[in-house]
Amino acid sequence: MRKKICMLGASAVGKTSLVKRFVEGIFSERYLTSVGVKIDRKTVRVGTVSVDLLLWDLNGEDRFQSVSMRYLRGAAGYLLVVDGTRKETLGRALLLHQRAQATLGSVPCVVVLNKVDLAPTWEVQDTDPDLLAVGARTVTKTSAKTGTGVEEAFLHLATALVQV
Ligand code: GDP
Ligand code: MG
Repeated sequence: MRKKICMLGASAVGKTSLVKRFVEGIFSERYLTSVGVKIDRKTVRVGTVSVDLLLWDLNGEDRFQSVSMRYLRGAAGYLLVVDGTRKETLGRALLLHQRAQATLGSVPCVVVLNKVDLAPTWEVQDTDPDLLAVGARTVTKTSAKTGTGVEEAFLHLATALVQV
């Protein structure tokens, strides 16, 4: 099966870095971006099912306003990314979550607390009530920099997609 998933979250939370780490296994401090949408592809196995993930990520300017219906349409689920070092990215994630649910209905969503390599400076705890407000079945701590939790986060989502 083939599934479109969207990367959602405030600017600079690490959406592009997470996709890059997941698909290419690398982290680089700077990416060249152009405006638009980048679609990466990776096939994962969930039990006996092979899932072809199409990973949609906004390139360049990815402010809240620019997340359009066109970007979301057809998505089977999404990764909602929060930057643990910046509390305000949680509020932004909640807004995006509401917008996505309004557009897509109640599709699977995995909440990702990224930059766990910087955990000593984190402003967000994984017990934050705002995280519970998202009603996520899973909160995964990740680091696109070290790779911690990244595979796991995408696999959580893929597993949820297979179970739908
Ligand atoms: P996007 O705007 O959400 O796509 O965010 P980017 O992937 O472009 O990352 C924004 C900035 O955060 C870049 O400088 C990245 O190098 C940095 N970054 C992303 N993920 C991590 C992480 O897990 N740990 C650390 N320390 N930095 C990260
Ligand atoms: Mg990006």
